[in-house]
Amino acid sequence: MAYQVTFIRGDGTGPEISEAVRRVLEATGVDFEWDWQEAGADVYEEEGNPLPDRVVDSIRERGLAIKGPVTTPVGSGFRSINVALRKELDLYACLRPCKAYEGVRTRFPDTDLVVVRENHEDLYAGVEFERGDPDTEKLRQFIKDTEGTELREDIGVTIKAISEYGTRRIVEAAFEYARAYGRSKVTAAHKANIMKYSDGLFLEVARAVAEEYDDIEFEDRIIDNLCNQLVSRPEEYDVVVLPNLYGDIVSDLGAGLIGGLGVAPGANVGEDYAVFEAVHGSAPKYRGQNKVNPMALLLSGVMLLRHIEETDAAQRMEEAIAEVIKEGASVTYDMKPSRDDPSAVGTSDVADAVIAKMEERVAA
Ligand code: NAD
Repeated sequence: MAYQVTFIRGDGTGPEISEAVRRVLEATGVDFEWDWQEAGADVYEEEGNPLPDRVVDSIRERGLAIKGPVTTPVGSGFRSINVALRKELDLYACLRPCKAYEGVRTRFPDTDLVVVRENHEDLYAGVEFERGDPDTEKLRQFIKDTEGTELREDIGVTIKAISEYGTRRIVEAAFEYARAYGRSKVTAAHKANIMKYSDGLFLEVARAVAEEYDDIEFEDRIIDNLCNQLVSRPEEYDVVVLPNLYGDIVSDLGAGLIGGLGVAPGANVGEDYAVFEAVHGSAPKYRGQNKVNPMALLLSGVMLLRHIEETDAAQRMEEAIAEVIKEGASVTYDMKPSRDDPSAVGTSDVADAVIAKMEERVAA
């Protein structure tokens, strides 16, 4: 029976990338029935809502989605649809595998780690108090009367709230991922030495969860030290679990370690739903040019195949991608030694090359 999957085409370069990925996923031999959905800037212009209910309903029905990048126009008044989707579907874990394939341009060829980022809490929960607002003054007084600190009058405030519940499930997700994918160590990152009641709680809960997984090694790192170590010996890290803000930053650091946004895949997952998407955005300046790299969303497709336990197909597809990268011929401009290399191929040519490699494997 065909897998029912919502495919959000995306905008900007999203449609070209999505089409390339559709073709490769179908060429694996796994049977998919796509429910194509539109979201983002173009839909906003037509309907006044960048994320119509039908998109979320489609994912709720199917449980699975793959998504091309979508634009969040600055100052348009609509919040990122990526954030909205994470909230609506309670996709609390962001998974970002950072693996350096042979042939990518990187100083860190031995990198093979997975960033697990908490998606809802921390400074990104959206609890803010504006400078000059009467509520900010009330908060300032409250802090003075309770905690005792007298903050300046001209403050703006963003609340950093980290819960035991949110931490427990993200750290469990990290350990479950490690178990499912044969990884041996989980590192929790924090700044518990300074932020005792938020990051301190994160660390305390992470340690307690770690006790329940005695088959997997656990360690913790202070976030600044982790960043230093990631750019000196990334090969020592395996699964790294972080609160939202650090996770956001370290995800991009991870993409840098493995050769850039063009090859950085991801997934947002919760108890009931999973949405697979590249780390990069819609690169709108290249729209319609058949130019950008589809590898990141292709690798997100590999993650989807593993998620539905189509392990052989996932392996075949990943190996085909790895071979195309290693050969370095059928790759887009961003993977060439120089950005204006005339031998760079287009988005659809990368898909053709990956499909050809998969067919060679089947024939062999
Ligand atoms: P971006 O990732 O779209 O592009 C930044 C630069 O990275 C591009 O100009 C390009 O040089 C390069 N790049 C990105 N993807 C590439 C690819 N596949 N192949 C080759 N090069 C690539 O980031 P941005 O310009 O900051 O954002 C553009 C829009 O995308 C914004 O509206 C932003 O909100 C949105 N965005 C969406 C997502 C998502 O849908 N998940 C993620 C990030 C940003």
